[in-house]
Amino acid sequence: MKIGALILEHYKERGTFKKHYFDKSKYYGLRMVIDSVERNYNTSVDYISMKNINEYDVVLVSLTSATDVWNLIYTFSHYGLDASKVKPKIIIGGAGVINIKTYLNFGDFFVWGRGEKTIVKLLDYIENNKKHKCNNVFERGLNDFNETFYINQTDNVYPHEVNGWKEEAIGCKKKCHFCQYTYSRKYTNSRADEQNYSTASEEHTFENLEINDNRVYVSAIDGFTERLRKIINKPIKDKQIIKKLQKAQGLGTETRVSLKLFNICGYPTETKKSYKKFINLIQSADYKKKMTPLSLHILITPFSAEPLTPAQYLPMDLETNYRKYFQSKFVGENGYVWKGNNITLYFMKYINSNWAHFQRAIVNRGGIEDGKIIEAIVNNKSFKNLSVPEKMYNIKKQTDFKKYKKKYNVDEDNEWGYLESYISNKKIDKMAQKLHNKLGI
Ligand code: SF4
Repeated sequence: MKIGALILEHYKERGTFKKHYFDKSKYYGLRMVIDSVERNYNTSVDYISMKNINEYDVVLVSLTSATDVWNLIYTFSHYGLDASKVKPKIIIGGAGVINIKTYLNFGDFFVWGRGEKTIVKLLDYIENNKKHKCNNVFERGLNDFNETFYINQTDNVYPHEVNGWKEEAIGCKKKCHFCQYTYSRKYTNSRADEQNYSTASEEHTFENLEINDNRVYVSAIDGFTERLRKIINKPIKDKQIIKKLQKAQGLGTETRVSLKLFNICGYPTETKKSYKKFINLIQSADYKKKMTPLSLHILITPFSAEPLTPAQYLPMDLETNYRKYFQSKFVGENGYVWKGNNITLYFMKYINSNWAHFQRAIVNRGGIEDGKIIEAIVNNKSFKNLSVPEKMYNIKKQTDFKKYKKKYNVDEDNEWGYLESYISNKKIDKMAQKLHNKLGI
C-alpha cells in the first residue's frame, strides 16, 4: 500500500511546497501518525502534492486549525477535484478536525482526536476490510450526522521520539471556558516535576510566570477586565497583573525585559471602556522612578465560540474589525499605546480581522451547504482582491450570516451536536448555561 501525506496549497500565498513543510511543531501530530504507520506497516510515508496524488492508495491530510479547512478546499477544488474524484482514500485528522460538515466532500475518512492507534486500524480496514470499532471515525457514504462521534483520548504520551522531539504532556489542567484545546484533549503528563507544568504548550500560565532576568517572557491573561476573566474561568486579578509588572521593573538591571501577553477581546458584554480601563491598570503599575525598563506587548485575539467548550453557544462579534479598531484608536505614531517611566505598552498589530474571524466561524458553525460558500470564495479570483469591508459586505448579503455569529440557546439545534469529547455534552451544556447566566445573556 502506497501512503502519502498531502501538503496543502495555500489559499492566500500559493506554492508552499517545501521539503521540510511538516517539520514545524504544529505538525507533531501528523508526524506521530506517520511514525506509527511506518512502525506498523514497515513502509515509508511520502510527502506529496496534488500533482502526484493518484500514484498513492491512501493519503493523509492534517488540519491544524479551521484556517487549514480553507486551504484543503482550495487545494482540491481549484483542480476541479474532491475526494471522490481522486484514486487514493483520503484520511483527514488533526487538531483542526472538529465540525467536518463544510469539508465532507474532501475526505473519505475523518478522524477525531488522537490518531496513532486509530490509523493502524483504519489502514487494516482499507486494505483488508477488517472491521474497526473506532467511534472517532466518520466514513463518508457510510456514517451520518445522526450518530454520535467522540474525540479520541489517550492516557499515555507517545512513547517514541519523533523528529528529535518527545511528547511529555497533553492537554491542560486548567479549564478556561473558551479553550477548545483543554476540552478536547484530556490532561496527561509524564514529567516528574509535574507541578511546574499545567499546560502542554510552551507558554507559562500567568500564575507560574516568574520574571527573574532580562529574557522575553510569554504568558496569557485572556480578558481585558477582572470581571470577564473571572467569568470565563481564568480568574487573574488586576492586582496580580500589577505585581508581576512591578517585579519586572524591580529587577535592578538596565537591560529591557520583554513580556508578551495573549489577550482576548470581544467577549459578550465587554464594552469599549474595558480597553481604557486596562490601559489605566498598566499605567498604575508603572513606578515613578527609573528602574528596569519593561516592554509589554499585548497580542489580541477576538473571542471565538469554539465547539465543545462551555463558550460554544455565545455570540461572536464578527462585525468589528478589531485589527483596525485597536490600531486606529490606541496606537500612536511611535507604534506604542503608552510610555511611562519604565513600562512601554504595545498592542501588536497582528490581530485577526473580522474576515479572518468569519473564516473560522463558518467552519465551526457551518453545515454541508456552507461548504459550498467556502468553495465558491476560494475559487473566485476577484473576491481575493477585495478589501475586508467589501468581503464582509458580500458575505452578509449572500449568506445566512446570523447563523455564524448569533447566540445559540443551550438546547437549540446546531451543526456540531454530533460530537462529544471526554467531558459529556450534558456536563458542558450545564457549564454553558451557567456561563450565559453569569454574563446575563
Ligand atoms: S487557555 Fe491556556 S491555561 Fe487556559 S485551559 Fe487553555 S491551555 Fe490551559
